[in-house]
Amino acid sequence: MKRLLSGNEAVARGTFEAGVKLASAYPGTPSTEILETIAEEYPSIYAEWSPNEKVAFEVGIGASLGGARTLVTMKHVGLNVAADPLMTFAYTGVGQGGFIVISADDPEMHSSQNEQDNRLFAKFAQIPFLEPSDSQEAKDFMLKGYEISEKFDTPVMLRLTTRISHSKGIVEESDPMEPRAVGFKRDMEKFVMIPSNAKKRHVVLTERLKKLAEYSETTELNTVEENGSEIGIITGGISYQYAKDNLPDADYFKIGFGFPLPLKKISKFIESHKRVIIVEELEPYYEEIIRAAGMKVEGKKYFSRLGELSPYKVGLGLKEAGLIDEIKGAEIEAGPLFPRPPVLCPGCPHRGAFMALKKVGVAVTGDIGCYTLAMLPPLQTLDSCICMGASIGTAIGMEKVGGYDKGVVAVIGDSTFLHSGITGLLDAVYNKSNITVMILDNRVTAMTGGQQHPATGYTLMGEKTRAVDFTELCKALGVESVRVVDAYDLKAMIDVIKEEMARPGPSVILTNRPCVLMPKRIMDRPYVVDPELCNGCTACFRIGCPAIMPSKEMTKRNKPKAVIDPVLCTGCSLCAQVCKPEAIVLAEEPVSVK
Ligand code: SF4
Ligand code: SF4
Ligand code: SF4
Repeated sequence: MKRLLSGNEAVARGTFEAGVKLASAYPGTPSTEILETIAEEYPSIYAEWSPNEKVAFEVGIGASLGGARTLVTMKHVGLNVAADPLMTFAYTGVGQGGFIVISADDPEMHSSQNEQDNRLFAKFAQIPFLEPSDSQEAKDFMLKGYEISEKFDTPVMLRLTTRISHSKGIVEESDPMEPRAVGFKRDMEKFVMIPSNAKKRHVVLTERLKKLAEYSETTELNTVEENGSEIGIITGGISYQYAKDNLPDADYFKIGFGFPLPLKKISKFIESHKRVIIVEELEPYYEEIIRAAGMKVEGKKYFSRLGELSPYKVGLGLKEAGLIDEIKGAEIEAGPLFPRPPVLCPGCPHRGAFMALKKVGVAVTGDIGCYTLAMLPPLQTLDSCICMGASIGTAIGMEKVGGYDKGVVAVIGDSTFLHSGITGLLDAVYNKSNITVMILDNRVTAMTGGQQHPATGYTLMGEKTRAVDFTELCKALGVESVRVVDAYDLKAMIDVIKEEMARPGPSVILTNRPCVLMPKRIMDRPYVVDPELCNGCTACFRIGCPAIMPSKEMTKRNKPKAVIDPVLCTGCSLCAQVCKPEAIVLAEEPVSVK
């Protein structure tokens, strides 16, 4: 049967067809839909959201040791979190079940804090990586990846990019294999990485790499397309599609198995062509290895190492190289959309926290989540954002050197706190840091579309489970003062922040309103502006709620009065709390913030 599938859906299908028994992940764009599809369409596979990528990776290692084929998925930055087990798992090799880790890279940083090229990570960890260039290959390479993993006793990386993960293509489906778990085979020398064993395993890894390099020379994952041209293009992944669009008649060396590279085969290809150009997105990964092997190629001088390539950008490079006269197609320009800056949703519970923090005037170290949007106008209340879980450690460091006289507050979401914030808080307690940590608990992993996590009370597969109690957890870590405050009660929020800032030692403030995109809306009736009372002071505009707009009606001083879009307004009440003339009222009767 043929189906139109995104790259992520095709990976999920490949997981099913390969007889995988366990899949674990932490959500992260562009990889999230892989596990969501598995949980929805292939319930025979046990699928879980783990608290972070390191744990997901370790769960996967356990399943592989237990003799089952295993999938672990994450976005590129997630692999940084999982790097510790990855590096050593490369030494031990897999159990009796093959192991694939997906790295979904995000060139152009559509939804990421950096733009790393994880082909380099595979080389660093010395594990093979496969790189599909469409949805069909995304599925097929999964099956191939498990074969390689089991044949060479190694974890395998399947590297996707946003364009592969989210574009759709026709995929031919095959019958699935029966999931199997052949059990754990004890082997301490292989799996217990004390130094004496690790030294031996490093030798094994080096020997394995030689075998993988030989395999790379013969595998059909690396293909040569002969069109009788003097021009040769070496490429892989989505770049292959962009190059083909521009130069359909060139000869191609298409790399699907990217580490180790098939250098003998590549050398033959280069020798048999007058000119060879490498087309690759982000880093000059192929180019550096091929040049280091003494071969003459051209590449990055024609193509940027910043952001995504596109058919147009590749065309520009090929034109500059003198290989084409005209670029087919045009640069993609954003359509004439209504200007819509990224803002927190109408009624978002985070808005109250940032309004309060702005009022108090402290330094705010931020983290990864929807609340990162608070760095944008009009709230502009976030002073740093580095990576998952970094807000607390950053706050500790800033406070220890007296970096900001008004004090430091770390903000972190519920999912991110569970991901990698707990250890930061432990440090704050242990090292007697005078910071306040705000855990903005919106009851879900909101930024990636609303996934479950250990505090929501449900698993990925929909089972009810025990939910983490943040107050108890923080107290258990040694925090003496843990306060819960209503995210929509601005005055209470300001008071609590001031009180906790004044208290010596670390403290935690928990906000308790769910994300408004959760199925249950916060309040049903919207707020409205009484135009008779509105004086155009703009206080409500400055909270950045997209439901509040300037109306056509002007004040005597020729300032626009405010109006609220009743369809967008969730009735959170925050704007009403900043309106001094009390011009913002609930549609029918007064509102309670409870
Ligand atoms: S998705 Fe939820 S948490 Fe994120 S900005 Fe919107 S309301 Fe706020
Ligand atoms: S805060 Fe009140 S008075 Fe000021 S513009 Fe908004 S609705 Fe009008
Ligand atoms: S009550 Fe005010 S701040 Fe809240 S969603 Fe409605 S318009 Fe926005």
